[in-house]
Amino acid sequence: MPAESLRFDAVTKAYGDTLAIDRVDLSIARGSFVALVGASGSGKSTLLKTINRLIEPTSGRVLLDGADVACGPAPALRRRIGYVFQSIGLFPHMTVAENIGIGPRIAGEPPADVVALLELVDLPRDLAGRMPDALSGGQRQRVAIARALAPGAKLLLLDEAFGALDPVTRDALGGEIRALHDRLGLTTILVTHDMAEALLLADRVLVMQAGRIVADATPAALLNGGGGDAAQALVAVPRHQAERLRALSA
Ligand code: ADP
Ligand code: MG
Repeated sequence: MPAESLRFDAVTKAYGDTLAIDRVDLSIARGSFVALVGASGSGKSTLLKTINRLIEPTSGRVLLDGADVACGPAPALRRRIGYVFQSIGLFPHMTVAENIGIGPRIAGEPPADVVALLELVDLPRDLAGRMPDALSGGQRQRVAIARALAPGAKLLLLDEAFGALDPVTRDALGGEIRALHDRLGLTTILVTHDMAEALLLADRVLVMQAGRIVADATPAALLNGGGGDAAQALVAVPRHQAERLRALSA
């Protein structure tokens, strides 16, 4: 297996005159945890969706494990990629176990090991028979992650996946995802508008602005003032909050 998991080669996506993605070149190492940060409308979701072909680029190409994702059937590609987004999308008429097992079942593969997957995302196994509407938001998001990983995906794409959660659950789940990433040797891309979350969880932070990647730095470099103006403007937000809290408690 090459050390590179993903490569974007001059990927562009235009909607009329709007360039949602503007010639992005990017390489993502296998096993890395990358945060993609930027204001609303900067192109984060569009870039993520070019990986699993929910969006086809206007030009350029995306390579996964060295092969163009545009070659071959999209369903097979998507089974290799766990994808979790904010509006969860559990099937309301299916139990937790049925939701988790849906990918392998549709593909005609051996059934998912639901008990192991529940354990993986730290849910009690007696939740298997519950319906989604009898779960908390955090539990539902854990089920969504278990479902995303059920087909044995090694690439995990999270698009504002914690956005609808309360801050305590969000913080806990973020840490658990990072632990899961390390344990399973995943390659993870976390889209978030929260720079603090990006700094705390990722190995590498990419900042998007108007369809381009304008900063690419480690959390340590960003905290030491690196990454350029756009990145520093985002780092300033949690830093000012921390300073104000410290002043209040002094
Ligand atoms: P983000 O996820 O960073 O908030 P998006 O990737 O959703 O940003 O959107 C990037 C840009 O592309 C925005 O200007 C958005 O309005 C535009 N865009 C996204 N999807 C469409 C679409 N289906 N049709 C037209 N414009 C779109
Ligand atoms: Mg988005």
